Amino acid sequence: MQQLATICEAVGGTTKKNEKTAMVAEYFRSRDLDSAATSAIFLSGRVFPAYEERTLQIGGTQLWRVIAELAGPGGEARLTMAFRKHGDLGSAAYDVLQPTAPANSTLAVTEVEAVLHHVSAARGAATKLRLLQDLLARATALEAKYIVKIMTGELRIGLKESLVEEAIAHAFSATSSAVQRADMLLGDIGGALRLASAGRLDEARMRMFHPVGFMLASPAQDADEAFSYFEHASVEDKYDGIRAQAHASAGHVRLFSRTLDDITGSFPELVPGLAAFSEDAILDGEILAWSADGETGRALPFSTLQKRLGRKRVADSMLRDVPVAFVVFDVLYAGDELVLDRPLSERAATLDRLFAAARAPATVRTIAPQGVLMFEPAVESPAEHVVRILRAPSARADSPAEIERMFTAAQARGNEGLMIKDLRSPYTPGRRGRSWLKLKRELATLDVVVTAVEFGHGKRASVLSDYTFAVRYGDRLVNIGKAYTGLTDVEILQMTGWFLTHTTADHGFLREVEPTVVIEVAFNAVMRSDRHDSGFALRFPRIVRLRPDKPPEEIDTLERVAEIYARQHKLPKSA
Ligand code: AMP
Repeated sequence: MQQLATICEAVGGTTKKNEKTAMVAEYFRSRDLDSAATSAIFLSGRVFPAYEERTLQIGGTQLWRVIAELAGPGGEARLTMAFRKHGDLGSAAYDVLQPTAPANSTLAVTEVEAVLHHVSAARGAATKLRLLQDLLARATALEAKYIVKIMTGELRIGLKESLVEEAIAHAFSATSSAVQRADMLLGDIGGALRLASAGRLDEARMRMFHPVGFMLASPAQDADEAFSYFEHASVEDKYDGIRAQAHASAGHVRLFSRTLDDITGSFPELVPGLAAFSEDAILDGEILAWSADGETGRALPFSTLQKRLGRKRVADSMLRDVPVAFVVFDVLYAGDELVLDRPLSERAATLDRLFAAARAPATVRTIAPQGVLMFEPAVESPAEHVVRILRAPSARADSPAEIERMFTAAQARGNEGLMIKDLRSPYTPGRRGRSWLKLKRELATLDVVVTAVEFGHGKRASVLSDYTFAVRYGDRLVNIGKAYTGLTDVEILQMTGWFLTHTTADHGFLREVEPTVVIEVAFNAVMRSDRHDSGFALRFPRIVRLRPDKPPEEIDTLERVAEIYARQHKLPKSA
């Protein structure tokens, strides 16, 4: 363990990636296979291989207590001070244990691993703490520093899993991509190291029930841009839910979030439908709030789904009030075959086959390509028997004009926009490429009322061109932003005349005006801010147009702003 701790210090001491990988590679080569494999897991910031469902089940406070006790008299106070200095429990442990810790190492990396397995398996906090205490009592101060860091998942030596993969490649003359692939399939970087050392990386086979990275999309400006990257596209609506990866095998089901956390417990109603596939499968899709209403049911807005997020377990009432569905749009693994290297056109066919053969057609459903999944802002009471697992409708597009039409249709259905996918592309886990493009409308526009105006600058110094605007909050108006651009010079001139005669308070540089002029504003994001009394502000607001057709009573509300804000932040850390 001392060598591993020493190498960690050295790796943390340089910012150069090449040096880091070279050092770790040299370390791997110098160790026996078991130590090297275990070290690879530790170095990638994990206690156990990714595929294992195991956790230590030890809280930071408990760990703190063990260290404070080992530090002897005054340990608690010294630990508090050291922690304040470093902001890291491992480094703090090093400081306080140094006077009493053994000077020479007797701990092997594999022994540390074995004890941590025991800790994880032990029932009862007392047993866990005793095991830990015995382990740390045997460790040198430097070993303790890194054992604690590994346990808290905060190695902080600038070594990502990808660098450990590179180091393995380096050490055993393999390619980084082969090591990366084996690690992805096995969910075990130690296992990947073993295969690499034997020159057998190509023998790695998919191990289910650990999350594989999600393929990500790049934004596209318009349909023309999409077709500058590829010729034949599969087009789907872009649904407004949360991304999820489902693993299903022999009735066993797990769901993982985009942050690779296990979220099965949050969505228990999806499990029976997923268990109904007659072949093993890893599926990619979006979880949506869902109303069972109508023949196929329909999607509800993200704000409805939000009530379900961040909960480890859900109450029955929540299951009833906010039911969900899983809309599947891709497949990574089917039967006993890894299909992610196949082109999307073939994966789509595999997905069709899986859905056709599912054992529970009442809950698993393919929607015809022309079928639609609609967002409608209404919550219906769900029926008992609900289609929960749906195949996302997709259509082929071979020209920008077709995409334009589909985009308009998707918007009319209330969906966020389109996903345009290259039919020839493989599934590339964890990568954002040009094979998947997202075509979104602007983050929505708001209809707001102008509450104050100011003279502009430069050539606009003599006209009232800067508008402060508000949304409605009950019977009050609350300001939410200020826009300078968007109207034509003629419009600005005309409005200046109107504002000058409808000023309610003249503050010199700023005039409060009668709140009757409605404008539509576009923006890039909603931010929390105390600059305005609404508590929100818009980033890069611009005036889209004057809305003389709209009375100020019908402008958007603060609730709507809060909803857009929530939608933007749709992935709470816990989800
Ligand atoms: P964004 O979150 O704006 O980067 O857009 C990408 C996200 O859109 C994905 O991570 C999915 O959660 C979501 N999404 C919705 N519909 C689809 C779809 N049909 N295909 C792929 N991703 C989709």
